[in-house]
Amino acid sequence: MTMKVLKFGGTSVGSPERMRNVSKLITDGDKKIVVLSAMSGTTNNLVEIADYYKKGNTDAASNLIGALEKKYAEVIEGLLTTQTYRNKASSIIACECNVIRSYANKPFSIQVEKIILARGEIMSTNLVQLYHEENKIQSTLLDSLEFMYVDADGEPVMPKIEEKLAKVLKQYPDEKLFIAQGFICRNDKDEVDNLKRGGSDYSASLIGAAINADVVEIWTDIDGIHNNDPRIVKNTHPIAEMSFDEAAELAYFGAKILHPSTVLPAKVKNIPVLLKNTMEPNAKGTVISNKATNTGIKAIAAKDGLTAIKIKSGRMLLAYGFLRRVFEIFEKYKTPIDLITTSEVAVSLTIDKTDYLAQIVDELKALGTVEIDKDQTIICIVGNMIAEEQGHAVEVLKALKEISVRMICYGGSDHNISVLIDTKNKEKALIALNNNLF
Ligand code: ADP
Ligand code: ASP
Ligand code: MG
Repeated sequence: MTMKVLKFGGTSVGSPERMRNVSKLITDGDKKIVVLSAMSGTTNNLVEIADYYKKGNTDAASNLIGALEKKYAEVIEGLLTTQTYRNKASSIIACECNVIRSYANKPFSIQVEKIILARGEIMSTNLVQLYHEENKIQSTLLDSLEFMYVDADGEPVMPKIEEKLAKVLKQYPDEKLFIAQGFICRNDKDEVDNLKRGGSDYSASLIGAAINADVVEIWTDIDGIHNNDPRIVKNTHPIAEMSFDEAAELAYFGAKILHPSTVLPAKVKNIPVLLKNTMEPNAKGTVISNKATNTGIKAIAAKDGLTAIKIKSGRMLLAYGFLRRVFEIFEKYKTPIDLITTSEVAVSLTIDKTDYLAQIVDELKALGTVEIDKDQTIICIVGNMIAEEQGHAVEVLKALKEISVRMICYGGSDHNISVLIDTKNKEKALIALNNNLF
């Protein structure tokens, strides 16, 4: 029997009322795995608590844990009605908060932070499961830490996920409704880890790929992927259909609605990804699939936090082997390159992982002079822009005529024109593009 995967984000499980609403949406009898995020605000609170521990400010951490526990006490009141179930829920929340408290006087490490961050999804999924149990709604709570695995580089280990998840599901041959935590996983050392902020989307597509689901549905607080960032630009509209490649570019280059890696596992298995609005379940949303879509520009996204690096080397650039030497340095420090442009005498590229910037720059200096620009933003214009269709690049550049553009990348694929600008010009650029392209 085929199965669906449905993921509900933080806002979708952000209150007792929303949790009940999710429960209604998932109890239609279809066989499915439901992936839940932490309640909105919780992961941010957990990041803050970990940060207090890091700074040795245990009092501030303790206050915040207290506030979190109080917030969940209210959620329990609103969600559950019998004392028995309220007690069960309270003891689960207390247990999770005590896990966090237990690190107050231990040395801080990234590992401690990961353990703390994992509590959010564990709490939300337990609450929804208890709501089901109290209301005699049949469902089974899974423990994602039993089957979600990443390797030493934080990349998912698909064969292991497939094998472990299949084993878990085999234990419940008649179950129709499974609930699992998004975001959390284990790493190569079997430690608690996560798929990075916003990672529940990625959990859903990985699980979908692992079980060959017929569809992965990402339920959030908006009616699908919009043509521009609705937080910045007014009058955006949802896009009904996108190809896997278009959606992947958009997610990778900043559209917050999807974790950047979400599309790939679904694309590999050709599983359609549907974006739906929990607040408006009847809205059409966006279907991402391998169906050919209309040509033309469809959407714009922005990705902040980029660092531009320019390597100038009059002598060597066109010599073969030069780019390899440049790339080898980035490879050595496991730092992905986002954009790249070359000229006769220089190569410019961007990175967003700056952990090893100093070392990289040091080594690049052996190849030429190096210039760094921080606080850069990639604006990514996505669509089906086959080269035979003229004018797309011109339209983009015309729209940006008042903005200084640091890099332009076009032709890497048929789906994307990317430009690099100073982050301070982002809003202006997004609005100008919106006015000129749609
Ligand atoms: P969730 O908590 O459900 O994962 P997110 O907050 O991560 O939800 O993503 C949904 C939000 O993404 C929307 O509320 C919207 O503000 C923002 N967003 C940014 N760019 C886009 C876009 N192009 N289309 C739709 N939403 C976008
Ligand atoms: N709770 C995690 C976060 O806030 C994962 C997610 O919501 O997708 O980043
Ligand atoms: Mg999200």
